[in-house]
Amino acid sequence: MLASFALAEPGGGANWTQTTSTRAVLDGDSYVINGSKVFISNAGEAGVYIVVARTDPAKGPGGISAFIVEKDTPGFSIGTVEKKLGLRGDPTAELLLDNCRVPKQNMLGQEGDVMKIAFANGGLDCAGQAAAAVGLAQAALDETKTYVKERTVVAPSTLANIDVVQSTITEMAIAVESARYYNYGSVMPPEKPGMDPRPLMAAIQAKEMAIDVTGKAITLLGGYGCTIDFPLERYFRDAKTLFMAPPAMTMIKSIIGKILLGVPLGPPPKK
Ligand SMILES: Cc1cc2nc3c(=O)[nH]c(=O)nc-3n(C[C@H](O)[C@H](O)[C@H](O)COP(=O)(O)OP(=O)(O)OC[C@H]3O[C@@H](n4cnc5c(N)ncnc54)[C@H](O)[C@@H]3O)c2cc1C
Repeated sequence: MLASFALAEPGGGANWTQTTSTRAVLDGDSYVINGSKVFISNAGEAGVYIVVARTDPAKGPGGISAFIVEKDTPGFSIGTVEKKLGLRGDPTAELLLDNCRVPKQNMLGQEGDVMKIAFANGGLDCAGQAAAAVGLAQAALDETKTYVKERTVVAPSTLANIDVVQSTITEMAIAVESARYYNYGSVMPPEKPGMDPRPLMAAIQAKEMAIDVTGKAITLLGGYGCTIDFPLERYFRDAKTLFMAPPAMTMIKSIIGKILLGVPLGPPPKK
């Protein structure tokens, strides 16, 4: 069954440990959830949603928990479906939770486990996102190779006979292959226990690579690369949209740095 992970809210996604305002209140044997989520991938298509909600505002990030919400639960509905730059085959929409009641057993793990769950989900999600980035960059490379072999510039020479075109194709191929094998390696079992940043690192590299490779592909096609007669403009839009999918890129590099340095997650200690 397809599932979605619902973290981001209208008030912000990047700083969710501080900005999460969706509330889950224990009432007898159930939690009652109220709030809304935005930009949720697969919304409307998924059968089950992992919804992040604040269970105890006094506990800060330790009072944020995750709940399994099935799509037919009363009080749960899909709101606005976004019209996105790219990845248009993957619906991204708002979730509305209006007195949405779920059994208390639907809490995933323990109260406050959401960082652990987000990281576990993030690892798998990142490997998938890196694979998507590699796939669309490979498609851009394949399309470009076909084009440059057919495009005659100064007869009888094609673009494929020009040094700088050959070098650019080489750079694109190295970038795609490197990201592919880095991603494969990142999902091998870790050498030591604890938070494993490798899938996140592979996703960062693959997403940056896809923007670079699809951009180079458009350059090699010249003006035709910017038209909808060729799929390159779509791959470029998809690459940028994939780059914007969680985890938020500007923040995740800092989080990975903290893990690599052994610095505690969260804001710097107060003096
Ligand atoms: C294609 C796509 C799919 C998505 N799918 C999902 C999904 O399935 N589930 C889900 O929960 N969310 C999803 N999102 C939303 C995503 O989680 C948020 O867009 C992201 O968390 C950033 O939140 P925001 O858009 O509110 O930006 P803001 O929080 O307003 O931030 C704006 C920009 O500033 C940067 N920024 C903000 N604060 C800081 C800081 N303290 N330090 C450094 N940089 C900062 C952010 O990285 C971002 O680039 C998706 C988004 C996209 C584009």
